[in-house]
Amino acid sequence: MQGLMMDYQLTLDAVLRRAETFFGSKEIVTRLPDRSIHRYTYTDMVRRTRQLALALADLGVQPGDRVATLAWNHHQHLEAYFGIPIMGAVLHTLNLRLPAEDLVYIVNHANDRVLLVDQVLLPLVERIRSNSHIEHVIVIGADGAAPEGMRSYEQFIEGYDADTFVQSALDEEQAAAMCYSSGTTGRPKGAVYSHRALVLHSFASAMADTLGVRERDTVLPVVPMFHVNAWGLPFTSTMVGAKQVMPGPFLDPASLLELYQQERVTITAGVPTIWLGLLQMLDKDPTAWDLSSLRVLLVGGQAAPKSMIQGFRDRHGLEVVHAWGMTETSPLGSVAVLSSEMDNLSVAEQDVFRATQGRPAAFVEIRARGEEGLLPWDGASMGELEVRGPWVAAHYYNNPDAEESFTEDGWFRTGDIVTINSAGYIQIQDRAKDVVKSGGEWISSVALENALMGHPAVAEAAVFAVPDPRWLERPMAVVVLREGASVEPEALREYLSGEFPRWWLPDRVEFIEAIPRTSTGKFQKSVLREQYGGASAS
Ligand code: ADP
Repeated sequence: MQGLMMDYQLTLDAVLRRAETFFGSKEIVTRLPDRSIHRYTYTDMVRRTRQLALALADLGVQPGDRVATLAWNHHQHLEAYFGIPIMGAVLHTLNLRLPAEDLVYIVNHANDRVLLVDQVLLPLVERIRSNSHIEHVIVIGADGAAPEGMRSYEQFIEGYDADTFVQSALDEEQAAAMCYSSGTTGRPKGAVYSHRALVLHSFASAMADTLGVRERDTVLPVVPMFHVNAWGLPFTSTMVGAKQVMPGPFLDPASLLELYQQERVTITAGVPTIWLGLLQMLDKDPTAWDLSSLRVLLVGGQAAPKSMIQGFRDRHGLEVVHAWGMTETSPLGSVAVLSSEMDNLSVAEQDVFRATQGRPAAFVEIRARGEEGLLPWDGASMGELEVRGPWVAAHYYNNPDAEESFTEDGWFRTGDIVTINSAGYIQIQDRAKDVVKSGGEWISSVALENALMGHPAVAEAAVFAVPDPRWLERPMAVVVLREGASVEPEALREYLSGEFPRWWLPDRVEFIEAIPRTSTGKFQKSVLREQYGGASAS
């Protein structure tokens, strides 16, 4: 017997209509490149979004065409987030931190025809346009000016009457957006998000036991809109009607703190690097900012050191929530929210769970696979995490060679090495390519570096494998010291020996100025391996 419910499509135009109907007067705030603050409402946003959709259609953009953006977090980018998908085209966010050569590859692979770009990023466009098929460049900038052969965003949309926009029926399975993984594991690969995936992902993100985004929240995504849709927060926030605050190109701690205070931000999200910088600034001057509105600092993209989570809470009364995800999982996979069963644990015991990657969101299923097959959830057996769910990629865009990323029974192989405990909490031990294999046993570089970052003299630390004649690989650590601090390598090894077996301890510890990073702010271990071990940069 069939259910008798409506066949209602889960598409982004419904999210926009809801925002228009119920949240019209709520604010969207942007810090512009000249540092001034731009303020408007959802009513303005919806109007301009439809103007953009009309303008794109007039330009000849057809359903399914890719429209790229090369832009920071701001209100025009939010307009593109909805304006492109509601007219049936595909929003393709480009990572402005990638080398031009990678951008050319991605733009050509996706066959982007139109590019919306920030005025401040025009030099980058010069380096990619001539090698691409881009026909139209639309420039987003404060003064409305555009160089020869390009058009200004403001002039592009201004002639259109939003009331004449007629919403065509969209299919929930059609593509709404796409994003390429940053290529830390070979050539960038494209994830293509359907309307349905983005809508369901928004529901999941709004749940109380994940990010718990509500109408009364003010959300500031530090995570760029070119990095997995700013973790979906622009979609989720619009669905629930939260006030949105966009930091523009200013992601330094002082600019963020100023916005948190001024706009009474409740939820903010970013990679650990951002929070480590912010914590140092707060530690220097704990009373300079009123952060009483801040409810959650969401951290993901790289493992959050336990010491950082504790530092924010113990010294500043701020809650850090740790989440795991990937470009291929839209990105919400799991969130380290404590269950009621943990209420009786000591704070120290609870912190062990807070520093894990948590339990999967509803409808995300997980399992771990070792060489012999699926692994028990015993908190000790290490294997590759496999996931499936309605917002998890089933294939990469136009990339038959990458089918080995998917199992025969349709799960996605994440490339992350994990343990899962009996309560279903995931602990990422490493990227498959970063795990240290010493004498046939696996050593978690993530566990070691997070422990090192708990030492008072250490600002940051990365652990990676270097070749060894006897054990094949051994761990080595590079450490960035806190300003004015000093410590001997042996003292750091001693510090680690309290927590790890002796054979896990890094054989070498070197002090360096800065850890090389990828375009998404993660430690670039391939560079370290090459520099210190001569191992091939994979
Ligand atoms: P890339 O694989 O190109 O770096 P992503 O931004 O999609 O691009 O990164 C996803 C990866 O980031 C995950 O597979 C995982 O290795 C890492 N990651 C994400 N969140 C966390 C986290 N909370 N803890 C540890 N690693 C994380």
